[in-house]
Amino acid sequence: MEETKTRNFLEEIIEEDLASGKVDSIMTRFPPEPNGYLHLGHAKSICLNFGLAQKYGGKTNLRYDDTNPTKEDTEYVDSIKEDIHWLGFQWEKELYASDYFDQLYEWAEQMILRGQAYVDDQTQEEIREGRGTVDKPGKNSPWRDRTPEENLRLFREMKAGKYADGEKVLRAKIDMAHPNMMFRDPLMYRIKHTSHHRTGDKWCIYPMYDFTHGQSDSIEHITHSICTLEFDVHRPLYDWYIQTLGIYPSHQYEFARLNLTYTLMSKRKLLELVQKGLVSGWDDPRMPTLCGVRRRGYTPEALRMFCDKIGVSKRDQLMDIQLLEWCVRQDLNARSNRYMVVQDPIKVHITNWEPGKVEWFDCPLNPAEPEGAKRRVPFTGELLIDRADFMEDAPKKFFRLRPDGEVRLKYTYIIQCNEVIKDEHGRIAELNCTFDPTTHPVTGEWRSVKGTIHWVSAEHAVPIEIRNYDRLFTLADMSTVPEDKDYKDFLNPDSLIVVKGYAEPALLEDQSGIAVQFERTGYYVADKDSTLEHPVFNKTTALKDSYKPE
Ligand code: ATP
Ligand code: MG
Repeated sequence: MEETKTRNFLEEIIEEDLASGKVDSIMTRFPPEPNGYLHLGHAKSICLNFGLAQKYGGKTNLRYDDTNPTKEDTEYVDSIKEDIHWLGFQWEKELYASDYFDQLYEWAEQMILRGQAYVDDQTQEEIREGRGTVDKPGKNSPWRDRTPEENLRLFREMKAGKYADGEKVLRAKIDMAHPNMMFRDPLMYRIKHTSHHRTGDKWCIYPMYDFTHGQSDSIEHITHSICTLEFDVHRPLYDWYIQTLGIYPSHQYEFARLNLTYTLMSKRKLLELVQKGLVSGWDDPRMPTLCGVRRRGYTPEALRMFCDKIGVSKRDQLMDIQLLEWCVRQDLNARSNRYMVVQDPIKVHITNWEPGKVEWFDCPLNPAEPEGAKRRVPFTGELLIDRADFMEDAPKKFFRLRPDGEVRLKYTYIIQCNEVIKDEHGRIAELNCTFDPTTHPVTGEWRSVKGTIHWVSAEHAVPIEIRNYDRLFTLADMSTVPEDKDYKDFLNPDSLIVVKGYAEPALLEDQSGIAVQFERTGYYVADKDSTLEHPVFNKTTALKDSYKPE
C-alpha cells in the first residue's frame, strides 16, 4: 500500500539527500515556543517532523524556542510534552534554545571582534525608520562605525545590566541597502530585564529569533529544519549566520500552515478567549488545542489519520473541519463501545408487561464483534424513548413510532403504540404500548419492521449531564473577518447546549478509556469533571454526516 502513495516534496528531498550521501541519517526537531498550548496546526508540524524521522530511521528533538522571557512559562512547557506524548511520539532529546545562550553570546562576541556586529544606540523608532522600504534603501546608523573594541565593551556592559530596556541593541553589520530587507543590519540581541523561566536572572540580554534558530539547529546537527511558509523570508539570514560562523550546515524547508474551517489557530487569539472567559480554559472541548480536542474525545489515532490525509503542500490551505470529524468517526466507529442514552424522554408504558418483571438482555459492546464482550441491558414495563422517535401525524417515510404503528426496540421486542397521553399543555407525556412476545430477538420468530429505536428502562436509567458541543465560530473562513468586525463577533452562541440524559446503567461501568457511541446519536466521552455521583459526558461528534472525503 505504502508504495503506491506518492511522496510529498519533503520526502523527495530527504530521499535525494540520503541517496546522494549529503546526509547519513536524518535529524529533525519540533521547536515550539512555550507561550501557549499546542493546537491542531502544531499537530501537523509534530506529525511531519516526527513522522519523517520515523519513516527514514532518523530522530527528532523537542526544542523549546524560549528566547522571549516575557510570554513564556513552565505551565506551557509541561503541557507541550504531555500533548506530544499523547499524539504518540517520543523525542530523542528535550532541549531549550536557552541552553545555548552562552554559546550564542560567544558567537556574538566573535562577530563583534571580526567587525561583523555593532552596538546601536538608536531607538526602536529610529531603527525602523532607518531600515528604508522595499523600494528605498535604508541609511546607516550613526553608531555603525564603532570600533570592535568599543562594541565589545558596550556589549559586555549590556550583558552586565548597565543599560535599560531598549537603550541599546546589537546588530549584524551587513548592508543597509540590501534588496532583502532582512539583511539591513538585523537585530541580534535586545535588552530585557525580565526573569526567564529557566535561566532566571542570569541574563538581561536575549538573542533574537534569527540569531538563535539556525545556530540551535546547527548545534544539534539538524539535517532538515522544517517550518511553516512565513519563515521562507528568514531562510537567507538563517543560512548567512551559519556560513558566517562556519558551523554545521543545517537547512530550512517550508511547508504550508494548517488552517481549518470554523476555528482559528493563533495562540494569541486562543489566549484571549481564555483570558476573557469566553471559553472555560485552554482545554475547553470547543478549543482547537490538543488538550481541548482530547477532552472532546478526539483520539490521537484520528489526528494522525487526519494529518496523513491532508499531506503537505507549499501553498496555504484552508482544510474542511469535516474531514477531521470524519477521521474521528472512522476511528471511533471501529473501536468504541455502544450504549443507549435518551436525551429528551417520553415515557413508554408497556401495558401487557408483567408488573415488576425485569428481563436482562446481553447486548454486544461493539456490533462489529457480535461474539465479543457484552453489556447487560434491563427491559421493563416502564421505558423511556427519545421524543424525536415518535410523531403523531407522521409522514409516510417516518419509520419510527407513530399511533398504531410498530417499531423494534433495539436488541429486544417489537412494540405497538396504542394510546397517546398528553399533559395539560397538550404536550405528549406518555405512550401506552403493547409488546409482541413472539418477537424476542433470540428465542422468538424473526419478524421485520421498518424502524428500530433506542430506549432505556425508566427504573434503571442513570441521569447524566450531557454537554452537546458544536463549532466555536459561525464563520467558515476565519481569515475573512471583515475590517469593521472582530473575530469574537463570530463566536457561535449555540456552541454548548447542556441537557440531562438518561443512560443504560452499563455506561458508567465502561472501561474503554475512549469515547463511546450513544447509539443512533453520536460519540460521547466522559469529561474530566465526571464522577459516579454526577456523570458528565461531552459530545465528541455526531454519528453521521453527509460529508465524504474526496
Ligand atoms: P501561533 O501563530 O499559533 O502562535 P507559532 O507558529 O508561533 O504559532 P510555535 O510554537 O512557534 O507557534 O510553533 C512551533 C512549530 O509549529 C513551528 O515550527 C511552526 O511553524 C509550527 N506551526 C505553528 N502553527 C502551525 C500551523 N497552523 N500549521 C502547521 N504548523 C504550524
Ligand atoms: Mg512562533
